[in-house]
Amino acid sequence: MQEKKDPRGDDKIFVVGHKNPDTDSICSAIAYAEFKQMDGINAVAARAGEINPETKFVLEHFGAEEPILLKSAAGKKVILVDHNEKSQAVDDIAEAEIMEIIDHHRIGDIETPSPIFFHAEPVGSSATIIADFFEKAGKKLSKKTAGLLLSALLSDTVILKSATTTDKDKEVAKRLASIVNEDIESFGMEIKKAKSSIAGKSARDIIKQDFKIYDLSKKIAVCQIEIVDDEEVKKMREELLEEMEKVRKEEQCALIAMMVTNIIKESTELLVAGDESIVEKAFGKVVNHSIYLPGVMSRKKQVIPKLEKILNK
Ligand code: MG
Ligand code: MG
Ligand code: MG
Repeated sequence: MQEKKDPRGDDKIFVVGHKNPDTDSICSAIAYAEFKQMDGINAVAARAGEINPETKFVLEHFGAEEPILLKSAAGKKVILVDHNEKSQAVDDIAEAEIMEIIDHHRIGDIETPSPIFFHAEPVGSSATIIADFFEKAGKKLSKKTAGLLLSALLSDTVILKSATTTDKDKEVAKRLASIVNEDIESFGMEIKKAKSSIAGKSARDIIKQDFKIYDLSKKIAVCQIEIVDDEEVKKMREELLEEMEKVRKEEQCALIAMMVTNIIKESTELLVAGDESIVEKAFGKVVNHSIYLPGVMSRKKQVIPKLEKILNK
């Protein structure tokens, strides 16, 4: 294997997920950096923000280190995982050299001056794609990395229950679970419980934990929290709506919608701040800043496409 280290260090490639990183963004970055390192490439796992409690639990569980914090991508070589929209990418992405993109979302607005490796696949998680890369390349997954990928897969697919879940996700999850010797259902619930409690968190923390901006014909944001008990949110409802309105003004968005997803009931209550007419056109009548969406759990597959239809550029 050829050693490609440059003493100036400018051959370093940062593998990084989206802002307000979730478990998929963090664990996919770690695993893909490892995948590239196996080819002698100086890849480093990075993160575009603070780690959430679920991811913290996962990293500790498998004894993995937090990726380094990348504050600006200016002048750096980067590989993007788990996103491909400028509004979700690490700061100064326009001044970075994007080497590759591995993602499972809608195709956004990232542009590159040269051709790159861009792998987009409509599966439940970026981790699914990366686990498959290891398999296809005949590269052995360590127990740690398999555990991280399994966690990301189960997190993004809500334990294989979300509408985004494909047969490939199920197969990959099975394979990963057998490497780490975990039961999918019980381990999945363990991960989800680490994320689902909102107790002791401020309204702002809850809103910002999994917050994504979309630059459509109007700028909007959709955040999501996952709960197992409706009561906690009920108590904070007014506070959340007030804070959503503040954040909406700060971020200059026409709309902020918060998906309060009950992973037991497999349904979502959408809380709305700002231009409610957008949500009404997409989903129906909004009453008291809220609309109940049975069967909806996926932002990417069940919410964003409908909003995008209304806010076509
Ligand atoms: Mg993600
Ligand atoms: Mg993902
Ligand atoms: Mg996600």
